[in-house]
Amino acid sequence: MTECLFCGIVAGEIPATVVRDEERVLAFADIQPQAPTHVLVITKDHHRTAADAAAADPTLLGEVVAAAHQVAEKAGIAASGYRLVFNTGPDANQTVPHVHCHVLGGRDMTWPPG
Ligand code: 5GP
Ligand code: ZN
Repeated sequence: MTECLFCGIVAGEIPATVVRDEERVLAFADIQPQAPTHVLVITKDHHRTAADAAAADPTLLGEVVAAAHQVAEKAGIAASGYRLVFNTGPDANQTVPHVHCHVLGGRDMTWPPG
């Protein structure tokens, strides 16, 4: 059993509602949705933050963002709009230390987020 929660999902050890499965990227429903559409897009390899992933492989986050858009298309919110969020570090309330892009939409997303 892997120690990282999201590595556990990648390994199939922890169940998740997968909505997109690519060679290097996985997308699954957030367990505590904050919007009608709330999906997490992660890299299959473990990187702690978006910055770590970018440093390790400059093209990887592009695949994450492209997958996030495909998720939004499939959810029917690509045209109406959606928000992508990479919480990074304690002040941003990053609770899972494995890079993940929140895809949020299906309602008016307020700004600033608070
Ligand atoms: P963060 O706060 O680190 O930016 O976001 C972590 C996200 O992971 C939260 O939105 C939380 O609801 C979600 N999450 C935590 N544990 C699980 C889990 O076991 N399965 C799924 N699908 N999402 C989870
Ligand atoms: Zn991990």
